[in-house]
Amino acid sequence: MSLSGKTALVSGGNRGIGRAIVERLAREGSKVLFLGRNERENRQVEAEINRLYPDAVRGFAVDVADEAAVNDWFAAVAEQYDSLDILVNNAGICQLSKSFTEVSDADWAATLGVNLYGVIHLTRQIIPRMKNAHGGKIVHVASLAAEVGGIATAADYVGSKAAVIGLTKSLARELAPYQINVNAVAPGFVRTQMTEAMAVDESIIPLGRMAEPEDIASAVYFLVSEESRCITGTTLDINGGLFM
Ligand code: NAD
Repeated sequence: MSLSGKTALVSGGNRGIGRAIVERLAREGSKVLFLGRNERENRQVEAEINRLYPDAVRGFAVDVADEAAVNDWFAAVAEQYDSLDILVNNAGICQLSKSFTEVSDADWAATLGVNLYGVIHLTRQIIPRMKNAHGGKIVHVASLAAEVGGIATAADYVGSKAAVIGLTKSLARELAPYQINVNAVAPGFVRTQMTEAMAVDESIIPLGRMAEPEDIASAVYFLVSEESRCITGTTLDINGGLFM
């Protein structure tokens, strides 16, 4: 188990892609702390995964958009762990179906609050810990939509994910001297609650299928393992060949 002895923090770990990442990292031997907004879902995921990998995961109800809540959580909980070796910034929201002029400042604030500031809040807290530990792995979950402008009527979502891709490159350069790798994954369509209402036509995907959350978790696992130690600043596409 290549991640034994490691501790990971995953945001949005109680369903969809985040849940698959939590389970995969636990399977590889890591302790996994995850943040999700819904306490009941957190408890359920904790129970299900700990049944397979005893005591591997703990979930916490923390809103990543709320800087004070994140900082309080780090002061109260993260301090109990010797190190946090892995951060996966996965939590995200997507409010579709508004044209650009209909997206209000409140909409922008809500989307950027989770998808960009959520990333900033967790990463800001974890960097000093990773520097002290002389290394670490950070992975952001971005989106194909930011690379190809694939979703009309979701400018706030696309803008937030484009910011995350830029942040990945800048942080990778800044943190390379500390042996901290910073990468992103850019999923296309993944079968989760987020895409339930989208009626995705799988025939437009060259490989003919949407990704499952486990497909994204495999890529994240690669990026947090030593197998990818020379990779930093990259965004790995996982989209079945869509918009190649
Ligand atoms: P989902 O809606 O199924 O899950 C989202 C997760 O984020 C949940 O665990 C939820 O609790 C958590 N979350 C939301 N707001 C939060 C907050 N303020 N604080 C803490 N946690 C919060 O979505 P998903 O499809 O699993 O998406 C996961 C990530 O993948 C998102 O960043 C999303 O933008 C990205 N993504 C998804 C797809 C797709 O097709 N599903 C494609 C590209 C990118």
